[in-house]
Amino acid sequence: MKVTILCLFLTLIMIRSMLGAATSNQHTHNRRILEDLKEDPKTNTNSYESFDFSSVMVDDEPPEKIDPNKPYNLGPKISDWDEQRQTWLQNNPGFPNFIRPDKPRVLLVTGSSPKPCESPVGDHYLLKSIKNKIDYCRIHGIEIFYNFALLDAEMAGFWAKLPLIRKLLLSHPEIEFLWWMDSDAMFTDMVFEIPWERYKDKNMVLHGWNEMVYDERNWIGLNTGSFLLRNSQWALDLLDTLAPMGPKGKIRDEAGKVLTRELKGRPVFEADDQSAMVYILTTQREIWGDKVYLENHYYLHGFWGILVDNYEEYIEKYHPGLGDHRWPLVTHFVGCKPCSKFGDYPLERCLKQMDRAFNFGDNQVLQMYGYSHKSLASRRVVKIRNETSTPLDVKDDLGLLHPSFKAVKVST
Ligand code: UDP
Ligand code: MN
Repeated sequence: MKVTILCLFLTLIMIRSMLGAATSNQHTHNRRILEDLKEDPKTNTNSYESFDFSSVMVDDEPPEKIDPNKPYNLGPKISDWDEQRQTWLQNNPGFPNFIRPDKPRVLLVTGSSPKPCESPVGDHYLLKSIKNKIDYCRIHGIEIFYNFALLDAEMAGFWAKLPLIRKLLLSHPEIEFLWWMDSDAMFTDMVFEIPWERYKDKNMVLHGWNEMVYDERNWIGLNTGSFLLRNSQWALDLLDTLAPMGPKGKIRDEAGKVLTRELKGRPVFEADDQSAMVYILTTQREIWGDKVYLENHYYLHGFWGILVDNYEEYIEKYHPGLGDHRWPLVTHFVGCKPCSKFGDYPLERCLKQMDRAFNFGDNQVLQMYGYSHKSLASRRVVKIRNETSTPLDVKDDLGLLHPSFKAVKVST
């Protein structure tokens, strides 16, 4: 009798957990992913399960043979480094002094799920992406915060940024602007400085177009993968206005239906923060519109699909510091989902192009130190400058190295 009751009890628990898993799946996967799941992962080119990673992991030819008879050295012999350094410090008092006094104090915030990635290489791409952001922030005197905790279980996925942003605004009153950036977005212009002056009367800056948002109500009229938010009562009120659509489950699903009905071009899926933003801007323009700047003079966010095939052309014709269609500030891999099992685009293209975007940005960092990637596809680097015994006399091509960089390279 006891055994029968125990078995019945265990069966009930199993049925419950299966039902639970089914509903949570239904809520966390968007329409596109559900479609993908129906397909066989073995033949689905967007699935990490069947993907041959060696196709993106191949490296170039082996390094040149080193002459075993030649003694190895790290570079030209330097014997007076202490003197060179002292002289430099005397000539450059107060360095680093590249942050203009009128530049607002900025905190760049990004993050990812507390769990390891579902795809085998996802964490490697997250690492590349944070390395890329650290470099931009270091060059521009911006602080950085990486969030790895789900602060509120209700607000999982793309809604996780809301409780996080609120917490950071309230905990850091010294910060004037918070810059949210998705983990799948990378800086591709390490020189470009945000035109802060332009936003002195604005509380939020997103990449977007007034006509697409206000006239068309288009769900891609703006993008929430990279935006600036002023630390203000206004920002708290905005977060409070967006948040009710976020709780996962029935609420998010029902809100998704409203957004799909009301917005142009939106597929059927649960509510997302970007659609919610378009929706409140169009339905409550008189409350929020004044203080929102939809920027399209440069790529605060740039959709990867229209940029990545042009990197060679940019290199040939232009130079970093422009931030726009000639040299995009940000390349955002919308829909590539490098951390999930499935994305919306062919994986090989996503991963290869993410490597290229990273290397394109990284070249601007490496050149400070006299190196460059062998090609945009290559992880290997080559020397682009001969080393000397007076390294402090060296000027890098972009002027990013010590005193020459004033972070005022305004776009032309
Ligand atoms: N994100 C997070 N925690 C999560 C899932 C996502 O912080 O559990 C962040 C992450 O930075 C991610 C962003 O939310 O880049 C938005 O998601 P994603 O970039 O996948 O959406 P897409 O840009 O493709 O629409
Ligand atoms: Mn993204």
